Amino acid sequence: METPSQAPSVTRRPKLGDMLVEANIISAAQLKEALDYQHAKDVKLGEALVALHFLTAQELTDFLNNQRKTLMMGDLLVKAGKITFQQLQETLKEQKRSGSRFGEALVTLGYLSELGFAQFFAKHIGVTCLDLSTITVEDASVKMMEEEAIRRLRALPIKRAGGGVLVGMVDPTDLLAFDEVTQALRRPIEVALILEKQMRQVLDRVFRKTGEIQGLMQELGEEMSRNRLDLNQFVNAEMVQDAPVVKILQTLFEEAIRQNASDIHIEPGQHVLRIRKRIDGVLHEQIIREKTVSVPLLSKLKLMAGLEISERRLSQGGRFSLKVGDSDVDVRLSTLPTENGESAVLRILNQTTGLTRLNRTGLPEDSIQRIDKWIHKPHGLVLVTGPTGSGKSTTLYAALNELNTPGKKIITVEDPVEYRLDRIVQVQVHPKIGLTFASVLRTVLRQDPDIVLVGEMRDEETCDIAIRAALTGHLVLSTLHTNDAVSTVIRLFEIGARGFAVASSLIGVIAQRLVRKICPQCSQPYQPSVQEQSWIETLAPDLAGAVFHKGAGCSQCLQTGYSGRVAVAEILEIDSQLANRIRHEDSSGFEEVARANPNYITLGKRGVMLASQGRTTLSEAMYLAGES
Ligand SMILES: [Zn+2]
Repeated sequence: METPSQAPSVTRRPKLGDMLVEANIISAAQLKEALDYQHAKDVKLGEALVALHFLTAQELTDFLNNQRKTLMMGDLLVKAGKITFQQLQETLKEQKRSGSRFGEALVTLGYLSELGFAQFFAKHIGVTCLDLSTITVEDASVKMMEEEAIRRLRALPIKRAGGGVLVGMVDPTDLLAFDEVTQALRRPIEVALILEKQMRQVLDRVFRKTGEIQGLMQELGEEMSRNRLDLNQFVNAEMVQDAPVVKILQTLFEEAIRQNASDIHIEPGQHVLRIRKRIDGVLHEQIIREKTVSVPLLSKLKLMAGLEISERRLSQGGRFSLKVGDSDVDVRLSTLPTENGESAVLRILNQTTGLTRLNRTGLPEDSIQRIDKWIHKPHGLVLVTGPTGSGKSTTLYAALNELNTPGKKIITVEDPVEYRLDRIVQVQVHPKIGLTFASVLRTVLRQDPDIVLVGEMRDEETCDIAIRAALTGHLVLSTLHTNDAVSTVIRLFEIGARGFAVASSLIGVIAQRLVRKICPQCSQPYQPSVQEQSWIETLAPDLAGAVFHKGAGCSQCLQTGYSGRVAVAEILEIDSQLANRIRHEDSSGFEEVARANPNYITLGKRGVMLASQGRTTLSEAMYLAGES
């Protein structure tokens, strides 16, 4: 007898009853009962199951259709040589284990890319496969259907074509969805296959909540003036439980998370209220005419953060957590009394960001490899430097995530604790009650840690303890506010660190920045200006002939030409030659040797490299170089 692995084209079809039991649609006892019934009445097993009310005829048909589709798809992929028979078996196993769709299981196991599977599937069912990232989807077309229906049916109206509509569907064979779409649009539809992830991106762009927030604000403003509400009533906690206020905040946070905003500013002006969100480092403004709504908004926020609601003359700070969609979000609230009333800044810390790994920071592969090598040393000091907002914390947390195993004790000393990490002991400093970086660090070292993260080496004492910890068998990670890698070492001397101690403890320095990425939707090549060209020739002559790009601005990127940011770093590894200069506290000698090393690539050069790959613009690269 042939075994399946020797005869790839022959698949043993499991029996219907077994399949239903395995899929948990019926129990083994029910199957037995149905088999007895089938035997006694001489009917098909399916009929027996339906007669016994173990499932409906519709459920049975759906199940069979699904099975048939999967088996066919699987066989076809094997026949076309896209996957092996072995991989098909693994995929079916994974599908059963996770309860996911066949295509999803294939992609999870890495046998095919999402697009690869979609293209094969589309060809097989005779439709076009559309890559939504490369075509323009008109907002007006998308809005022909409700957002809820689009997400549920996984069908997106893309554009009007002739008298009909081109609709992208994640599963064009889903006839029920097809019927509902036809009904909703009341026009003939032409179907193409699209990727679910890309569909969601389009929805996030089209159904931005700006309009909704405007509407809710107006509603609240009108209600306040109609009922002549005394603003001071809002100091009363029950008042701020009001539905419109909660709804506005909910919508505001939802949108901020979608847009990946880092902060929300609520600023009462003389005549209007400004809501500004920082996205990729740049503020985007929304004007609200109902200026008075800021009072209930702030009262509610203060209540959530456990602050004194009636205190409007002093600045206050607090934090709260909330769940927005699938994300757990921590919010730090800071209030400030101004001429026009109390203003607030909300820093948004999406806790999922705290789970980043090094390879997701966007740093180039060679940088990641070096950092990974450093942080796996048993002891020593690794420093990440850069101004506020340069992504230092993300890199440090990514490093901690690489190291976070049951075998390592990790303790952090932070101000503030930004992301909460499992298994890691995190301590918040409180200088007001004497819990300074230095004092906490001293205690922490008695807790037998393997790895210590010191939020910042601000003063001589902290610096001294951290370096001593690194010398006595601990891996210490920390940050400094310096501009480039070379000046970091010099800064350590200025703080009061001794050359011999730094020389024997410092492993390496990562000087980091974030640069904006060109929006992929509107990126186009362009000819650098004469100044830019001569700048490239001085800094990176080997890249002078490259083609550079910039974004023209489109609806996807809020007309900025940029979308998202990527980390860039200058990496300085302390070798014996450099250690020697450090030992003698020879700053100028150190700088000379460091800069002469061919492996030392400055931030400016890194920027030009990124620009030559079409990932960022020359102006971002120049900004990087100007700072260093
Ligand atoms: Zn764009």
